[in-house]
Amino acid sequence: MISVTSKDFFDTLIADFIVSSEKVAHVQLGNNAEHALLVLTKTGYSAVPVLDMKFRLQGLVSTQMITDSILGMDHIEYERLPDIKVDDVMDLQVPTIHQGENFQRAMDLLINHNFLCVVDDEHTFVGILTRRVIMKQLKKYLYQPH
Ligand code: AMP
Repeated sequence: MISVTSKDFFDTLIADFIVSSEKVAHVQLGNNAEHALLVLTKTGYSAVPVLDMKFRLQGLVSTQMITDSILGMDHIEYERLPDIKVDDVMDLQVPTIHQGENFQRAMDLLINHNFLCVVDDEHTFVGILTRRVIMKQLKKYLYQPH
């Protein structure tokens, strides 16, 4: 069992473990669903952030949200992709975290999400924190002698 001595692990700040914004694939508000699907398919990511022109986080868009929006009665209506804006299909409920927060808060959120978007006080996108990175740190921590 993880003991109370792991307090220092939970107190670790997330700042050093963020994938910075310039390395994160994203789409922009106003982009169409065809472009978003291309980005998602080419990168292989399940979801990517949607940013506005000032780089502020507006939502998340996933392959599933896009295909869901073009589901017809008996076929997928791919021809509609250019006419659909990511603004209309994206999820507005984005799990976010600030650079000054710690692993405890991150782990609480990462139970239900694959990754978190890191934003500053103006909601400007700073990067992402993935579940994989935190799991790696936890594994390192548990296997090292204390
Ligand atoms: P991973 O733990 O690396 O598999 O990443 C989990 C999820 O985080 C991916 O499916 C993406 O939705 C997102 N993600 C990770 N890295 C990036 C990146 N460089 N750009 C955009 N999204 C990412």
